[in-house]
Order: sequence, then structure tokens, then C-alpha cells
Amino acid sequence: MSQYNLNKARESEISDLAAWYADTYCPDPQPVLPQLIAEKLGITYSLGDYKGSFDGLIENVRGAFHIYLHSTGNDNLYSPRLRFTFGHELGHYILDDHRNTLLLPGIPMHGSVTTLDSSIETEREADLFAACLLLPEDRIKRDLYRRRFNFALVDELSRKYNVSLTATLLRLIALGNHPLMMVCSRAGKLKWLRYSHDFPFQSINTGAGKQIPVASCAGEYFEDGTKYLHKTEKVFAEDWFVLWNSALRRRPFFEHCIYQESQQQVISVLWEA
Ligand SMILES: [Zn+2]
Repeated sequence: MSQYNLNKARESEISDLAAWYADTYCPDPQPVLPQLIAEKLGITYSLGDYKGSFDGLIENVRGAFHIYLHSTGNDNLYSPRLRFTFGHELGHYILDDHRNTLLLPGIPMHGSVTTLDSSIETEREADLFAACLLLPEDRIKRDLYRRRFNFALVDELSRKYNVSLTATLLRLIALGNHPLMMVCSRAGKLKWLRYSHDFPFQSINTGAGKQIPVASCAGEYFEDGTKYLHKTEKVFAEDWFVLWNSALRRRPFFEHCIYQESQQQVISVLWEA
């Protein structure tokens, strides 16, 4: 199993379970509201400024569950970030092995920071659960029907379902309709990546210090500040990946960058041209 991806069977198990909760408690065309699902499951919740020590936290007090959601007051239950965090915490309750851990004596709570770069598998599972809950499989499959993949489609889905671009991408990667890779680089170094199981490459051609390749659009940004705002650029396999055959060097790909400057971070979305 890769350092970043979950295995395929586990992905579909999580997707099916999330879809069941979405379709049972918030059937189409109703929007999926994590707060509604929490209420139906008898889970209480509160929003507050918890001083940034976590984005979300689920607590078990003698079998009664409560979810704390960090909010600075600028966001609410309808903000994409908070919706994702809420979905993530629900995942810790709904996924059997996560809930069983919370029920163990001495483990009354679990706090999460939802930045997608966790090396902990249960965190990545809860992230995927959140993405699949907010973007249920049947609904987005209908939206994707006969559509060609491009970045405008990601943008459109993220608005329609009121989720962030990264959550939308996480969902589309797991769906695998169109093989995609999402690479996060921070301060010039590879932080994490996710890719569809049938994406043709899995290894980024980083240096020993995990530097992002300079020929990539993300690499250019860290090199000299070049930005391709709202623009999809053409790149080649050799600009990004570890190749096993030199004939693959000029295989064309698209790269679309999402710049998250407050975190010195770039998310590159890659797909085959
Ligand atoms: Zn978590």
C-alpha cells in the first residue's frame, strides 16, 4: 500500500457507507447537511473558537458522542471548511473501527486537524468519508455523465455541493472516472499526494530533499513566483514523474495550480492530456 493512498477495497467500502448516510438522511435533491445527520444519530455538536488546537474533535462521554467544531466566527455550518470537518468527525463515529477505538476505556476523545497531509491512516479514511458524504457517488456520477474532465468541472461541482476544491478533488480521485493526481507542495517541497488507482505514474521526481521539480508549474512558483492563475498549463511526464522508460518523457499532461499563499502551499492537479 502506498504512503498516501488507501487501498481500493477500503475506498469503495467508505464511499458506499457515506452514500448510504447521505441518501438516507439527506436524499437528493436535498443538500447533504452533516448537522442533520448528526441530529438523526443522536450526536450533539457545538461551534466555538478552540484556539486552533484542532479543527474538529469527537468526544465520547459514557457512550454519548459530542462533536466540537472550531470556528473563528467567520465560518458556520454552511461553510465548506466546516462542513468538511463535520463530515470528517462523523466518519470517526460511523466507521466501525474508528468508533470502537473511541469506546475503549482511556480514549474518550479524538481531535483532528483536517489538512489532508496526515500520515495516519484513520485520518485519511475520515477525510475520504467526508468527501464521499458531501459528494455522494450517484449524484456526482450523474453530473459527470458524458462530461470531459477539465478544471471548470471541478469548480462547478465544488460550488454546486458547497465544498472546497480540494474536497471535490479528493472525491473525484477516489471515483476514478478520470484518472487524476493531486500534489501538495509547501515551501518548495512535496507534502502529500493522492492519485486515482489507474493514474499512470505514482512517483514524483523529487530531489533528495523532496524538492518539487522546477520544470513543473508548482516548481516555477517556488523558483521565481510565476503563477498561472485560473489557467491550465500543458506539462510533460518528464516534468513531474519518475519514469521507467525514456519513451514516456514527452507524454503530455495538464497541470492546474491552486495557490494557497497563506500556507505557502500549492496544490497541483494533474491529468492526462
Ligand atoms: Zn480525525
